[in-house]
Amino acid sequence: MTEHTKTDGLPGIDVPQAAPEPVASGARTASAKVECNACPVLCQISEGRTGACDRYANQAGALVRVDPVVLLRRTLEVGDAELVPFAGRADGDAAPAEWSGDLLHADEVFVTGVGSSTTYPDYKPAPFIVASQARGVDMVTVVTEGIFSYCSFKVKIDTDRFLGPEQANIRCKGEVVGHVTTAEYGSQMLSLGGVHHLTGGSKKEGRITAEMMQLLGNKQAVELTIDGGSQIVVQAGRAPIVNGVEEQRMRVGCGSATIGIFAKQLLGHVDEVVVVDDHITGVLTEHQAGRCLDMRRSGIKMLGRKSTPGRYFQVANPGTGWGGTDIAEPLSIIEGWNPEVAWPGLRLLMTSTTGEHASWYVLDDALRPVEQAMPAAVRAVVERIGENCEPSLSTVLFLGGAGGSLRAGVTDNPVRLTRAIKQAMVNVTCGGAPAYVWPGGGITVMADVMRMPDNSFGTVPTPAIVAPIEFSMALEDYRLLGGHMEYVRPLDQVLRRGAWHDEGAPLALRWAQNAPGNPWPLGQPPLLG
Ligand code: SF4
Repeated sequence: MTEHTKTDGLPGIDVPQAAPEPVASGARTASAKVECNACPVLCQISEGRTGACDRYANQAGALVRVDPVVLLRRTLEVGDAELVPFAGRADGDAAPAEWSGDLLHADEVFVTGVGSSTTYPDYKPAPFIVASQARGVDMVTVVTEGIFSYCSFKVKIDTDRFLGPEQANIRCKGEVVGHVTTAEYGSQMLSLGGVHHLTGGSKKEGRITAEMMQLLGNKQAVELTIDGGSQIVVQAGRAPIVNGVEEQRMRVGCGSATIGIFAKQLLGHVDEVVVVDDHITGVLTEHQAGRCLDMRRSGIKMLGRKSTPGRYFQVANPGTGWGGTDIAEPLSIIEGWNPEVAWPGLRLLMTSTTGEHASWYVLDDALRPVEQAMPAAVRAVVERIGENCEPSLSTVLFLGGAGGSLRAGVTDNPVRLTRAIKQAMVNVTCGGAPAYVWPGGGITVMADVMRMPDNSFGTVPTPAIVAPIEFSMALEDYRLLGGHMEYVRPLDQVLRRGAWHDEGAPLALRWAQNAPGNPWPLGQPPLLG
């Protein structure tokens, strides 16, 4: 199945401009270039230009982070300046007046990693180590943009349609960028990105994978094709588009569950119901629900493999037709009728698990189903099946392993950070969004990109993903885990001056509001697995 050409490490890197000679990091070169050392590419950047990732620039001979660092504010007033320059960088401690002095003391502001710049090449403390208070407790937040090679997106597509076989390759612009994983109830899971595709294949595969991941993380649409399956458009927080058709409904349950839920509402209006579903097709009079309601057996004979009474597997192949099968004609899954049991005039409802497909039949004298107009009472139940379906969404979760270099930006002894997180002393957030911390070794975190600020993700051409990460804890705990105490700065100083360093620092901050539903990141325990 693998499509990779294995290399012994990173694929070759397209360095934008070859270094003519070694230059000091951040230093102005003879040709007025500065070297960016925020990732291993080490771009030599001419004045007025940006480096290969468009995140760092040479501005009048100084290396700067071109995006503002994003700060969350609990409440934003209409008319508040959104973008505020760090006035203190140029002339000492001159304070811009764009925010209320109350903010400096209240539990109102959170510095995110978005735009904060990074700790690479690993010996540096994090660019922002911010002291503030939460509910009267002295806190510290260590803020950085992590460079993640080990990271992927887990994508949940709410759909009944067949997207592709499990383990099938998923392609973007022809390159393999992930695979189909297990189906969950009403959804198909995908794994996209990951170190295997970023660095384990060809240069092109790595580049396309990084591009695709950046788009997905930044809540933009990505077009994908699945080998042996569908073409899909995925965008976080939006309905998936499968083979050009926007998905509407997530099924209410499998065919068996649908039978059980609506059996009583159909009683008296129907003689038989078949709920067509790729996984379990339900038949009401054979099903336990029909038996409990004393329904007369209909004599229907279904195709597929009978699992338990009234529940059939494999009635058809997976597809984009009725109930996630490949059928457009529902009667094709009925093998026949037992003439000893069935009777002319028998009323049959066939529906999918979303109610999007539904037909009404009455058996004629030869026990052949003849389609007729659906009675209003039956139509009402089919509509209720539809009403009970939740809207289909694409859900995109960022999953990243925060390794050694990032932890060194927090403490001289990185394992202590890992231990402190596992002991629930340190909250981990991604752009202020709660991050679920996986059990086991290391710091493997997962966050919903919809809870993160817009444009949280970037890339570097190594290739790797750049993503925000913040560690918040009590100041005393930070001291105990061997934190870089000499770099802890109070919030008001951070608001005036920005990052502690001058090389590659952001020049401005942008206010954003904490996403609805996100707990305020300070004073929270981590979401431990
Ligand atoms: S790719 Fe970006 S982060 Fe890396 S050296 Fe170039 S400008 Fe700096």
